[in-house]
Amino acid sequence: MDLGLQGKKAIVCAASKGLGRACAISLAREGVELVITARTASTLEETAAEIRQMTGVKVTAVAGDITSEEGRAAALKACPSPDILVNNNGGPPRGDFRDWDRETWIKAVDANMLAPIFLIKAVVDGMIERKFGRIVNITSGSVKSPIPELGMSNAARAGLTGFVAGLARQVAHHNVVINNILPGPFLTDRLRGGFQEAARKTNRPVDELVQERLSKTPAGRAGDPAEFGDACAFLCSAKVGFIVGQNLLLDGGAFNSSST
Ligand code: NAP
Repeated sequence: MDLGLQGKKAIVCAASKGLGRACAISLAREGVELVITARTASTLEETAAEIRQMTGVKVTAVAGDITSEEGRAAALKACPSPDILVNNNGGPPRGDFRDWDRETWIKAVDANMLAPIFLIKAVVDGMIERKFGRIVNITSGSVKSPIPELGMSNAARAGLTGFVAGLARQVAHHNVVINNILPGPFLTDRLRGGFQEAARKTNRPVDELVQERLSKTPAGRAGDPAEFGDACAFLCSAKVGFIVGQNLLLDGGAFNSSST
């Protein structure tokens, strides 16, 4: 299927590694010109070079913190009129809500709710004028099935989801579609990081422990970031004008529901 994306321009946030990187690769394979962001310039430049070599598309690396106004402004300066925006960021820490003060909460809301909302605000009117826009927000399976120790993530992402649900329905008739993808366990550095302590204690490889934990889930494995990237590219495609304000759960069937 031709996704109809040749020559389009995208900003993919938090894309030097993991899910953001996978989305950038899948979009580049469809001929999309990219601006990718992350805080660590060296890793970001490496990823940009890799994607250029893999696909031949123009990839501009903009190092910065996407949670900050300056970080967002730099990405928008490099790509003022994107056809596609993939919102992504690091996730808030685990913990007990009794330990979280106001400042800690504001950081989480800034990162996982307000940063994507302000980027959407910056690009959506241009998309409406040009009669094409695709926005994908990377949230989390925790939006449907909250993870108790990830209270700040549950809350900030639910806030973004509620906002998007309304906005997506206001802009869809301009061929601007906004959807969310909700990752379950994908084999990225973040997921591996969560298993490192157990791996050290048991002297077993991280990937073996991940596999053991997930072997009883319906898919029996962790997700491959490339699968996530391809789903994202599809949701950014010219084919999806009628898929509006959806929350696509990619979790290998772990969330048990007859109407997910
Ligand atoms: P990852 O492998 O750790 O990659 C995170 C990427 O985001 C890196 O490129 C990182 O680069 C960048 N980044 C982090 N904070 C940033 C900031 N403030 N500004 C710009 N870039 C930033 O993480 P991932 O597994 O792909 O996860 C991506 C998102 O999906 C997270 O919000 C995570 O909570 C969520 N999620 C992941 C899973 C999973 O299984 N992987 C499941 C559910 C939800 P720098 O550090 O250099 O900035």
